Amino acid sequence: MSNPKHYQLIILGSGPAGCTAAIYAARANLNFAMITGLEQGGQLTKTDKIANWPGEPNEISGLDLMEKMMKQVRNFSSDILLDSILKADLSKRPFYLKGDADEYSCDALIIATGASAKFLGIPSEQKYMGRGVSACAVCDGFFYKNKNVVIVGGGNTTAEEALYLAKIAATVTIIHRRDSMRAEALVIDQLKKTTNIKFELNSFVTEILGDEKGVTGVAIQDVNSNATKIIEAQGVFIAIGYKPNTDVFAGQLEMEQDYIKTGYGAKTATSVPGVFAAGDVASGYYHQAVIAAGSGCTAMHDAKNFLSSLEK
Ligand SMILES: Cc1cc2nc3c(=O)[nH]c(=O)nc-3n(C[C@H](O)[C@H](O)[C@H](O)COP(=O)(O)OP(=O)(O)OC[C@H]3O[C@@H](n4cnc5c(N)ncnc54)[C@H](O)[C@@H]3O)c2cc1C
Repeated sequence: MSNPKHYQLIILGSGPAGCTAAIYAARANLNFAMITGLEQGGQLTKTDKIANWPGEPNEISGLDLMEKMMKQVRNFSSDILLDSILKADLSKRPFYLKGDADEYSCDALIIATGASAKFLGIPSEQKYMGRGVSACAVCDGFFYKNKNVVIVGGGNTTAEEALYLAKIAATVTIIHRRDSMRAEALVIDQLKKTTNIKFELNSFVTEILGDEKGVTGVAIQDVNSNATKIIEAQGVFIAIGYKPNTDVFAGQLEMEQDYIKTGYGAKTATSVPGVFAAGDVASGYYHQAVIAAGSGCTAMHDAKNFLSSLEK
């Protein structure tokens, strides 16, 4: 270890959780740095339209919203570091972080590294991303009023998102590669009772179809017979899960399904005193920007209380 740059507080991540924590840290006059990671502004920068950010009555693009948040951080602080953390040692204080560009140490750490939505990995998915392809029914369902949509996946999240979409869209077709869904029996019952929900089981998406306006349908293939067919739809929701960005901390913090567990005393406190987690990285359920921002604010207050306790 050479001579790491030391800060009272380091915030990892520049999504809504990281930016909000940074704004509050600056206003609390803490000596802190925000390390942006490779995705400056976080995953919201991937989406075209956001209609549920309070205070933005007209739709705003994710990129514009996150540029505004980053600008607000910059107004208060110059310690925004364009680096990505590859290694961490949380076994003793100060905590040590090794980045791609530099090394750092801190007395308190807020982890706001998010959780990346998993995608199918077919080329047409990227082509129509934000033009009919989405990984978030709660975020984008609104844009498919009285339209036909498909949702890909078979777990509880898929089932809940399908029920959510069924209240908005004309039809919702669930595409799942197994012969039954993995969701809870009660939820599956609800799906079956919802008249505009259809099932394409034992099937997987081979291609997302579209034109210059966006998605027009999906091509699916039966896993047993290899038979193919096309389902017409204007929206394709991918609900096959999330991968929390926690590899760097594996074995050092208590986790549940790779999400960082919190609530050890303070709301955002992790199993290691002085380390806090905010946003999607700590929540397997709520993947919403406003919730991430709120928890970034909470994490900064928890971190500030922890730092004050060190001075006593
Ligand atoms: C396509 C899409 C559309 C969406 N639409 C909406 C919407 O309309 N409304 C809504 O409320 N929500 C929406 N969401 C969800 C929303 O984007 C997330 O809930 C929110 O961004 C989570 O914020 P976060 O700060 O926790 O994490 P993220 O925004 O994921 O940010 C994580 C940050 O951590 C950084 N990072 C990761 N690893 C490292 C590392 N090793 N070192 C340093 N930094 C690291 C990344 O660079 C990034 O800056 C959408 C998501 C997607 C994918």
